[in-house]
Amino acid sequence: ADPPQASTIAIPPAARPGDPIEAVDTPSLILDLDAFEDNLRTMQVLAERHGVALRPHAKAHKCPEIAIRQVALGASGICCQKVSEAVPFVAAGVRDVLISNEVIGAPKLALLARLARQAHMSVCVDNVRAVEALSSMMVEYEATVNVLVDIDVGQKRCGVQTPEEAVSLARLVQKLPNISFVGVQAYHGGLQHKRSLDQRQKAADKTVRAIRGYLDAFARAQIECPVVSGGGTGTAAFDVASQVYTEIQAGTYAFMDTDYAAIDWGDALAFRHSLYLLGTVMSTPTPERAVVDLGLKSTSAESGAPRIADHPDLRCVAVHDEHCILLAGSRRSRPEVGTQLRLIPGHCDPTFNLHDCIVAVRGQHVEALWPISARGLSR
Ligand code: PLP
Ligand code: MN
Repeated sequence: ADPPQASTIAIPPAARPGDPIEAVDTPSLILDLDAFEDNLRTMQVLAERHGVALRPHAKAHKCPEIAIRQVALGASGICCQKVSEAVPFVAAGVRDVLISNEVIGAPKLALLARLARQAHMSVCVDNVRAVEALSSMMVEYEATVNVLVDIDVGQKRCGVQTPEEAVSLARLVQKLPNISFVGVQAYHGGLQHKRSLDQRQKAADKTVRAIRGYLDAFARAQIECPVVSGGGTGTAAFDVASQVYTEIQAGTYAFMDTDYAAIDWGDALAFRHSLYLLGTVMSTPTPERAVVDLGLKSTSAESGAPRIADHPDLRCVAVHDEHCILLAGSRRSRPEVGTQLRLIPGHCDPTFNLHDCIVAVRGQHVEALWPISARGLSR
Protein backbone atom coordinates (compact mmCIF):
# COMPACT_ATOMS: atom_id res chain seq x y z
CA ALA A 1 0.00 0.00 0.00
CA ASP A 2 1.08 3.59 -0.62
CA PRO A 3 2.48 5.37 2.42
CA PRO A 4 0.09 7.97 3.84
CA GLN A 5 0.66 11.38 2.26
CA ALA A 6 0.28 14.77 3.81
CA SER A 7 -2.87 16.39 2.47
CA THR A 8 -2.32 19.19 -0.01
CA ILE A 9 -5.93 20.39 0.08
CA ALA A 10 -6.15 24.00 1.22
CA ILE A 11 -9.49 25.13 2.62
CA PRO A 12 -10.87 27.63 0.14
CA PRO A 13 -11.95 31.03 1.47
CA ALA A 14 -15.68 31.45 2.13
CA ALA A 15 -15.85 34.05 -0.61
CA ARG A 16 -13.77 36.27 -2.86
CA PRO A 17 -14.14 40.00 -3.43
CA GLY A 18 -16.65 40.60 -6.20
CA ASP A 19 -18.64 37.43 -5.52
CA PRO A 20 -22.41 37.82 -5.31
CA ILE A 21 -23.67 37.10 -1.81
CA GLU A 22 -25.34 33.86 -3.04
CA ALA A 23 -21.86 32.49 -3.74
CA VAL A 24 -20.65 32.93 -0.15
CA ASP A 25 -20.04 29.60 1.58
CA THR A 26 -21.81 29.16 4.90
CA PRO A 27 -21.78 29.57 7.80
CA SER A 28 -20.16 32.97 7.41
CA LEU A 29 -20.17 36.19 9.37
CA ILE A 30 -21.41 38.97 7.13
CA LEU A 31 -20.99 42.71 7.62
CA ASP A 32 -23.35 45.01 5.73
CA LEU A 33 -20.93 47.85 5.02
CA ASP A 34 -23.56 50.53 4.35
CA ALA A 35 -25.24 49.97 7.72
CA PHE A 36 -21.87 49.59 9.47
CA GLU A 37 -20.54 52.87 8.08
CA ASP A 38 -23.78 54.64 9.03
CA ASN A 39 -23.39 53.37 12.60
CA LEU A 40 -19.76 54.50 12.81
CA ARG A 41 -20.73 57.98 11.64
CA THR A 42 -23.78 58.23 13.91
CA MET A 43 -21.76 57.56 17.07
CA GLN A 44 -18.79 59.67 15.97
CA VAL A 45 -21.04 62.64 15.18
CA LEU A 46 -22.85 62.24 18.50
CA ALA A 47 -19.58 62.27 20.45
CA GLU A 48 -18.17 65.22 18.55
CA ARG A 49 -21.35 67.24 18.95
CA HIS A 50 -20.83 67.00 22.72
CA GLY A 51 -17.07 67.47 22.65
CA VAL A 52 -16.48 63.97 24.00
CA ALA A 53 -13.91 61.53 22.62
CA LEU A 54 -15.04 58.20 21.21
CA ARG A 55 -12.79 55.28 22.12
CA PRO A 56 -14.68 52.30 20.68
CA HIS A 57 -14.34 48.95 22.39
CA ALA A 58 -12.52 46.55 20.09
CA LYS A 59 -13.51 43.51 22.16
CA ALA A 60 -16.80 43.77 20.27
CA HIS A 61 -15.18 42.91 16.91
CA LYS A 62 -11.53 41.92 17.43
CA CYS A 63 -10.85 43.07 13.87
CA PRO A 64 -8.05 45.56 13.04
CA GLU A 65 -9.67 46.53 9.72
CA ILE A 66 -12.65 47.77 11.71
CA ALA A 67 -10.56 49.62 14.30
CA ILE A 68 -8.61 51.37 11.56
CA ARG A 69 -11.89 52.64 10.09
CA GLN A 70 -13.11 53.83 13.49
CA VAL A 71 -9.88 55.75 14.07
CA ALA A 72 -9.94 57.17 10.53
CA LEU A 73 -13.40 58.61 11.28
CA GLY A 74 -12.13 60.35 14.40
CA ALA A 75 -12.01 57.83 17.24
CA SER A 76 -9.28 58.79 19.74
CA GLY A 77 -8.04 55.22 19.96
CA ILE A 78 -9.59 51.93 21.01
CA CYS A 79 -10.28 49.90 24.12
CA CYS A 80 -9.21 46.30 24.49
CA GLN A 81 -10.25 44.11 27.37
CA LYS A 82 -7.12 41.96 27.38
CA VAL A 83 -3.44 42.70 26.76
CA SER A 84 -3.00 39.97 24.15
CA GLU A 85 -6.09 41.24 22.35
CA ALA A 86 -4.29 44.56 21.78
CA VAL A 87 -1.35 42.97 19.95
CA PRO A 88 -2.87 42.66 16.44
CA PHE A 89 -4.36 46.16 16.70
CA VAL A 90 -1.02 47.73 17.57
CA ALA A 91 0.61 45.67 14.80
CA ALA A 92 -1.98 47.10 12.38
CA GLY A 93 -1.06 50.66 13.35
CA VAL A 94 -3.54 51.61 16.08
CA ARG A 95 -1.50 54.01 18.18
CA ASP A 96 -3.60 54.47 21.31
CA VAL A 97 -5.07 51.57 23.30
CA LEU A 98 -6.75 51.53 26.70
CA ILE A 99 -6.82 48.14 28.39
CA SER A 100 -10.17 48.77 30.09
CA ASN A 101 -9.44 46.17 32.69
CA GLU A 102 -7.12 45.14 35.51
CA VAL A 103 -3.91 43.43 34.33
CA ILE A 104 -2.46 40.95 36.81
CA GLY A 105 0.64 38.76 36.55
CA ALA A 106 4.14 39.06 35.12
CA PRO A 107 3.51 37.59 31.63
CA LYS A 108 0.71 40.07 30.93
CA LEU A 109 2.60 43.01 32.42
CA ALA A 110 5.67 42.19 30.33
CA LEU A 111 3.56 42.07 27.16
CA LEU A 112 1.89 45.35 28.14
CA ALA A 113 5.33 46.92 28.63
CA ARG A 114 6.46 45.77 25.19
CA LEU A 115 3.30 47.20 23.63
CA ALA A 116 3.85 50.43 25.55
CA ARG A 117 7.16 50.87 23.74
CA GLN A 118 5.27 50.89 20.44
CA ALA A 119 1.96 52.63 21.21
CA HIS A 120 0.30 54.86 23.80
CA MET A 121 -1.04 52.33 26.27
CA SER A 122 -3.33 52.94 29.25
CA VAL A 123 -4.49 50.45 31.82
CA CYS A 124 -6.92 50.24 34.75
CA VAL A 125 -5.97 49.54 38.37
CA ASP A 126 -7.89 48.93 41.58
CA ASN A 127 -5.24 47.42 43.84
CA VAL A 128 -2.06 48.65 45.55
CA ARG A 129 0.09 45.60 44.82
CA ALA A 130 -1.05 45.61 41.20
CA VAL A 131 0.09 49.25 40.88
CA GLU A 132 3.49 48.39 42.35
CA ALA A 133 3.91 45.41 40.02
CA LEU A 134 2.88 47.54 37.03
CA SER A 135 5.40 50.24 37.87
CA SER A 136 8.29 47.85 38.38
CA MET A 137 7.63 45.99 35.12
CA MET A 138 7.50 49.30 33.23
CA VAL A 139 10.83 50.30 34.80
CA GLU A 140 12.35 46.95 33.81
CA TYR A 141 11.29 47.44 30.19
CA GLU A 142 12.02 51.18 30.13
CA ALA A 143 8.40 51.76 29.10
CA THR A 144 5.72 54.14 30.35
CA VAL A 145 1.99 53.65 30.67
CA ASN A 146 -1.00 55.82 31.61
CA VAL A 147 -3.14 54.63 34.48
CA LEU A 148 -6.86 54.97 35.15
CA VAL A 149 -8.19 54.11 38.56
CA ASP A 150 -11.14 51.80 37.97
CA ILE A 151 -14.11 52.89 40.09
CA ASP A 152 -17.12 50.68 40.80
CA VAL A 153 -20.12 52.86 39.99
CA GLY A 154 -22.67 50.13 40.63
CA GLN A 155 -21.78 47.25 38.34
CA LYS A 156 -20.31 45.28 41.24
CA ARG A 157 -17.47 43.91 39.10
CA CYS A 158 -13.97 45.32 39.55
CA GLY A 159 -13.04 48.79 40.80
CA VAL A 160 -12.33 50.64 44.04
CA GLN A 161 -15.30 51.01 46.36
CA THR A 162 -14.81 54.51 47.82
CA PRO A 163 -13.50 57.93 46.73
CA GLU A 164 -10.90 57.74 49.54
CA GLU A 165 -9.52 54.52 48.08
CA ALA A 166 -9.43 56.10 44.62
CA VAL A 167 -7.51 59.13 45.89
CA SER A 168 -4.95 57.07 47.75
CA LEU A 169 -4.42 54.78 44.75
CA ALA A 170 -4.00 57.82 42.48
CA ARG A 171 -1.40 59.22 44.91
CA LEU A 172 0.50 55.93 44.78
CA VAL A 173 0.43 56.00 40.96
CA GLN A 174 1.76 59.56 41.02
CA LYS A 175 4.60 58.53 43.35
CA LEU A 176 5.84 55.48 41.47
CA PRO A 177 8.07 55.62 38.37
CA ASN A 178 7.08 55.00 34.71
CA ILE A 179 3.33 55.14 35.35
CA SER A 180 1.15 58.28 35.12
CA PHE A 181 -2.22 58.86 36.71
CA VAL A 182 -4.58 60.26 34.05
CA GLY A 183 -8.06 59.66 35.42
CA VAL A 184 -10.77 57.13 36.15
CA GLN A 185 -12.70 54.43 34.39
CA ALA A 186 -16.37 54.32 35.35
CA TYR A 187 -18.16 51.62 33.40
CA HIS A 188 -21.53 50.18 34.37
CA GLY A 189 -22.43 47.25 32.12
CA GLY A 190 -25.51 46.30 34.07
CA LEU A 191 -27.55 49.25 32.91
CA GLN A 192 -26.68 49.12 29.19
CA HIS A 193 -29.50 46.71 28.41
CA LYS A 194 -32.20 48.07 30.70
CA ARG A 195 -35.23 47.96 28.48
CA SER A 196 -37.04 51.16 29.27
CA LEU A 197 -35.41 54.33 27.99
CA ASP A 198 -36.60 56.18 31.07
CA GLN A 199 -35.16 53.62 33.51
CA ARG A 200 -31.90 53.54 31.57
CA GLN A 201 -31.67 57.31 31.75
CA LYS A 202 -32.36 57.29 35.51
CA ALA A 203 -29.76 54.57 36.08
CA ALA A 204 -27.23 56.47 33.96
CA ASP A 205 -27.92 59.62 36.00
CA LYS A 206 -27.24 57.68 39.19
CA THR A 207 -23.92 56.51 37.77
CA VAL A 208 -23.06 60.11 36.90
CA ARG A 209 -23.80 61.19 40.49
CA ALA A 210 -21.48 58.46 41.75
CA ILE A 211 -18.72 59.65 39.39
CA ARG A 212 -19.19 63.23 40.60
CA GLY A 213 -18.55 62.02 44.15
CA TYR A 214 -15.19 60.68 43.01
CA LEU A 215 -14.32 63.79 41.02
CA ASP A 216 -15.10 65.97 44.06
CA ALA A 217 -12.75 63.87 46.16
CA PHE A 218 -9.97 64.28 43.58
CA ALA A 219 -10.57 68.03 43.50
CA ARG A 220 -10.38 68.25 47.31
CA ALA A 221 -7.13 66.27 47.20
CA GLN A 222 -5.87 68.61 44.45
CA ILE A 223 -5.32 65.71 42.06
CA GLU A 224 -6.04 66.50 38.46
CA CYS A 225 -8.29 63.91 36.84
CA PRO A 226 -8.46 64.77 33.14
CA VAL A 227 -9.92 61.48 31.87
CA VAL A 228 -13.28 59.94 32.74
CA SER A 229 -13.74 56.90 30.50
CA GLY A 230 -16.81 54.69 30.34
CA GLY A 231 -20.23 54.29 28.84
CA GLY A 232 -21.56 51.85 26.30
CA THR A 233 -23.98 51.60 23.42
CA GLY A 234 -27.12 51.56 25.57
CA THR A 235 -26.33 54.70 27.53
CA ALA A 236 -24.13 56.59 25.04
CA ALA A 237 -26.74 59.26 24.33
CA PHE A 238 -26.91 60.11 28.05
CA ASP A 239 -23.20 59.63 28.70
CA VAL A 240 -22.08 62.17 26.08
CA ALA A 241 -24.45 64.76 27.51
CA SER A 242 -23.57 64.05 31.16
CA GLN A 243 -20.71 66.57 31.41
CA VAL A 244 -18.62 64.02 33.32
CA TYR A 245 -17.41 61.51 30.73
CA THR A 246 -14.53 62.67 28.57
CA GLU A 247 -14.55 59.51 26.46
CA ILE A 248 -17.11 56.86 25.53
CA GLN A 249 -16.20 53.18 25.25
CA ALA A 250 -19.15 51.86 23.23
CA GLY A 251 -18.55 48.80 21.07
CA THR A 252 -21.78 47.17 19.89
CA TYR A 253 -23.13 50.32 18.23
CA ALA A 254 -21.24 49.46 15.04
CA PHE A 255 -23.06 46.12 14.63
CA MET A 256 -26.05 45.73 16.92
CA ASP A 257 -27.45 42.36 18.01
CA THR A 258 -30.84 41.07 19.16
CA ASP A 259 -29.93 41.84 22.76
CA TYR A 260 -29.52 45.55 22.04
CA ALA A 261 -32.31 45.64 19.45
CA ALA A 262 -34.71 44.57 22.21
CA ILE A 263 -34.21 47.72 24.30
CA ASP A 264 -36.33 50.80 23.90
CA TRP A 265 -34.38 53.39 21.89
CA GLY A 266 -37.09 56.03 21.75
CA ASP A 267 -36.11 58.33 18.92
CA ALA A 268 -32.88 59.44 20.55
CA LEU A 269 -30.39 57.31 18.67
CA ALA A 270 -30.74 54.69 16.00
CA PHE A 271 -28.19 52.08 15.11
CA ARG A 272 -28.81 49.61 12.29
CA HIS A 273 -28.17 45.89 12.19
CA SER A 274 -24.98 45.47 10.19
CA LEU A 275 -23.90 42.05 11.45
CA TYR A 276 -25.43 38.81 10.20
CA LEU A 277 -24.71 35.14 10.18
CA LEU A 278 -25.20 33.71 6.74
CA GLY A 279 -26.54 30.17 6.84
CA THR A 280 -28.01 27.66 4.42
CA VAL A 281 -31.09 25.51 4.93
CA MET A 282 -29.63 21.98 4.95
CA SER A 283 -32.74 19.92 5.74
CA THR A 284 -36.52 20.29 5.82
CA PRO A 285 -37.61 17.11 7.58
CA THR A 286 -41.19 18.24 8.22
CA PRO A 287 -43.48 20.79 6.52
CA GLU A 288 -42.81 23.31 9.30
CA ARG A 289 -39.19 22.59 10.23
CA ALA A 290 -36.07 23.92 8.53
CA VAL A 291 -32.57 23.19 9.77
CA VAL A 292 -29.82 25.74 9.13
CA ASP A 293 -26.14 24.77 8.91
CA LEU A 294 -24.88 26.87 11.81
CA GLY A 295 -25.02 26.47 15.57
CA LEU A 296 -23.13 27.23 18.75
CA LYS A 297 -19.81 27.08 16.92
CA SER A 298 -20.88 30.04 14.79
CA THR A 299 -23.16 32.08 17.03
CA SER A 300 -23.41 33.03 20.66
CA ALA A 301 -26.62 31.83 22.27
CA GLU A 302 -26.28 32.95 25.89
CA SER A 303 -28.40 36.01 25.03
CA GLY A 304 -30.99 33.95 23.21
CA ALA A 305 -31.20 32.20 19.86
CA PRO A 306 -30.47 34.21 16.72
CA ARG A 307 -33.34 35.94 14.97
CA ILE A 308 -34.05 35.28 11.31
CA ALA A 309 -33.81 38.51 9.34
CA ASP A 310 -36.31 39.21 6.55
CA HIS A 311 -38.54 36.28 7.66
CA PRO A 312 -40.83 37.30 10.52
CA ASP A 313 -42.65 33.98 10.23
CA LEU A 314 -39.51 31.91 10.99
CA ARG A 315 -38.41 31.32 14.57
CA CYS A 316 -35.24 29.68 15.84
CA VAL A 317 -36.35 27.24 18.56
CA ALA A 318 -33.08 25.43 19.28
CA VAL A 319 -29.38 25.98 18.77
CA HIS A 320 -27.22 22.83 18.60
CA ASP A 321 -23.46 22.66 18.06
CA GLU A 322 -23.75 22.83 14.27
CA HIS A 323 -27.49 23.28 13.63
CA CYS A 324 -30.20 25.86 14.24
CA ILE A 325 -33.73 24.46 14.27
CA LEU A 326 -36.26 26.82 12.72
CA LEU A 327 -40.02 26.55 12.90
CA ALA A 328 -42.18 28.21 10.28
CA GLY A 329 -45.56 29.67 11.19
CA SER A 330 -47.07 28.00 8.13
CA ARG A 331 -46.09 25.51 5.45
CA ARG A 332 -45.88 28.31 2.93
CA SER A 333 -43.26 30.21 4.88
CA ARG A 334 -40.90 27.27 5.40
CA PRO A 335 -37.84 27.79 3.21
CA GLU A 336 -36.60 25.05 0.88
CA VAL A 337 -33.32 23.17 1.17
CA GLY A 338 -30.53 25.32 -0.24
CA THR A 339 -32.09 28.64 0.75
CA GLN A 340 -29.63 31.14 2.22
CA LEU A 341 -30.81 32.92 5.36
CA ARG A 342 -29.44 35.86 7.31
CA LEU A 343 -29.54 35.41 11.07
CA ILE A 344 -28.99 38.18 13.62
CA PRO A 345 -26.88 36.96 16.56
CA GLY A 346 -28.04 37.49 20.14
CA HIS A 347 -24.75 39.03 21.25
CA CYS A 348 -22.12 40.34 18.86
CA ASP A 349 -18.93 40.10 20.98
CA PRO A 350 -18.80 36.32 21.54
CA THR A 351 -20.07 35.76 17.99
CA PHE A 352 -17.13 37.59 16.40
CA ASN A 353 -14.84 35.50 18.59
CA LEU A 354 -16.06 32.34 16.82
CA HIS A 355 -15.03 33.41 13.31
CA ASP A 356 -11.73 33.74 11.47
CA CYS A 357 -12.91 36.45 9.16
CA ILE A 358 -15.68 38.86 8.29
CA VAL A 359 -17.17 38.83 4.84
CA ALA A 360 -17.73 42.53 4.20
CA VAL A 361 -20.63 43.03 1.82
CA ARG A 362 -21.79 46.11 -0.09
CA GLY A 363 -25.30 45.69 -1.44
CA GLN A 364 -25.40 42.23 -3.01
CA HIS A 365 -21.66 41.75 -3.47
CA VAL A 366 -18.63 40.85 -1.38
CA GLU A 367 -16.26 43.78 -1.09
CA ALA A 368 -13.54 42.32 1.14
CA LEU A 369 -12.60 39.66 3.66
CA TRP A 370 -11.32 41.05 6.94
CA PRO A 371 -9.41 38.78 9.33
CA ILE A 372 -10.66 38.75 12.93
CA SER A 373 -7.07 38.75 14.08
CA ALA A 374 -7.72 39.07 17.82
CA ARG A 375 -10.08 36.12 17.80
CA GLY A 376 -9.31 33.86 20.75
CA LEU A 377 -6.79 36.29 22.25
CA SER A 378 -8.21 36.33 25.75
CA ARG A 379 -5.04 36.36 27.86
N1 PLP B 1 -16.41 49.21 28.29
C1 PLP B 1 -16.27 48.08 29.00
C2 PLP B 1 -15.31 48.06 30.14
C3 PLP B 1 -17.03 46.93 28.67
O1 PLP B 1 -16.88 45.81 29.40
C4 PLP B 1 -17.92 47.00 27.56
C5 PLP B 1 -18.77 45.84 27.18
O2 PLP B 1 -19.03 44.93 27.88
C6 PLP B 1 -18.00 48.18 26.83
C7 PLP B 1 -17.24 49.27 27.23
C8 PLP B 1 -18.82 48.34 25.56
O3 PLP B 1 -20.13 48.08 25.67
P1 PLP B 1 -21.14 47.91 24.45
O4 PLP B 1 -20.62 46.86 23.52
O5 PLP B 1 -22.34 47.47 25.16
O6 PLP B 1 -21.25 49.22 23.79
MN1 MN C 1 -21.36 42.82 24.68
